[in-house]
Amino acid sequence: MSDVFHSDLIILGSGPAGCTAAIYAARAGVQTALVQGMQPGGQLTITTEVENYPGFSEIIQGPWLMQEMQKQAENCGTEMKFDHIKEVQFSEDGSDVHKLIGESGQEYTCYSLVICTGASAKWLGIESEEKFMSKGVSGCATCDGAFFRNQDVLVVGGGNTAMEEALYLANGCKSVTMIHRRDEFRGEVVLRERVKKHEKINIIWNTELEEILGDDMGVTGAKLRNNQTGEVTEQNFMGVFIAIGHKPNTDLFKGKLEMDETGYLQVPAGTVHTKVPGVFAAGDVMDHTYRQAVTSAGFGCMAALDAARYLDERQQA
Ligand SMILES: Cc1cc2nc3c(=O)[nH]c(=O)nc-3n(C[C@H](O)[C@H](O)[C@H](O)COP(=O)(O)OP(=O)(O)OC[C@H]3O[C@@H](n4cnc5c(N)ncnc54)[C@H](O)[C@@H]3O)c2cc1C
Repeated sequence: MSDVFHSDLIILGSGPAGCTAAIYAARAGVQTALVQGMQPGGQLTITTEVENYPGFSEIIQGPWLMQEMQKQAENCGTEMKFDHIKEVQFSEDGSDVHKLIGESGQEYTCYSLVICTGASAKWLGIESEEKFMSKGVSGCATCDGAFFRNQDVLVVGGGNTAMEEALYLANGCKSVTMIHRRDEFRGEVVLRERVKKHEKINIIWNTELEEILGDDMGVTGAKLRNNQTGEVTEQNFMGVFIAIGHKPNTDLFKGKLEMDETGYLQVPAGTVHTKVPGVFAAGDVMDHTYRQAVTSAGFGCMAALDAARYLDERQQA
């Protein structure tokens, strides 16, 4: 393949964290390149309406917001690369040069790396889930719960994610039905008790989602199957929240960076730096708590400012 491409700072990922990191780094005068990955614009490109990103008084479209962020990053001086990194070699020889290899065969080098590879919500994989995606089917209560105020919604799942989503939705929705394929929740005991006691949450055990029902306007209900008796029932819902967890996009860093048991990159509290000097992590790839565009953007800003400082000190040394 072609010659090695070098940029003092390379950012991996073009979601809110990556774009924000690029804007701040380029504006700080750092030579900045951003490798977009297979999902240019990140997770917000698979949703429609975004109502909670500050600065917009009207509802905006996720793909539009991400196009604007990418343009802003480019206008500030970021070089965009259409590639997906498949291999990383962190500096081990004291040269402080990190090497990356893209799916395209391109080799990259940098002195500082900001990892913003995000996470992916897990889905059930049934046809009707895809059909009604963003038309009543959601993977994020904080993002979409407000669209279902005073309505009946269904939450699928039985771990911490599902219980947190149900409790959040119970604040504004008329009722929240939870289905779980087992006869007890898997998550934290405190959450289990809160969910079970909540007057607006109805739990149906040993039950799986057979099909999501709807029309041209969106979701109208769901077919639920009891996995002990095989009985299938239909219930009306305006929203279906799939809450079976998230998978951070960190396979690339296995054995190279510290991760928790589910694969989220670990950084000391209140910071964005990894154990490798000059390597930072921002957004959903290291944050399993908030998982929002605005928090990812905030972490991206922190990572860029720290990377700029690191590069500055490196040059002074
Ligand atoms: C359906 C849906 C609706 C949502 N709605 C809202 C909402 O209304 N408001 C809100 O605040 N949040 C919402 N969210 C959450 C929000 O999208 C995420 O919190 C946010 O996108 C995380 O940003 P990020 O930059 O950390 O990662 P992501 O957006 O996940 O972006 C990750 C980026 O990394 C790239 N990448 C991955 N691996 C590699 C690699 N090996 N090499 C190079 N690049 C790589 C990908 O191509 C992608 O560009 C929603 C999420 C979903 C799924």
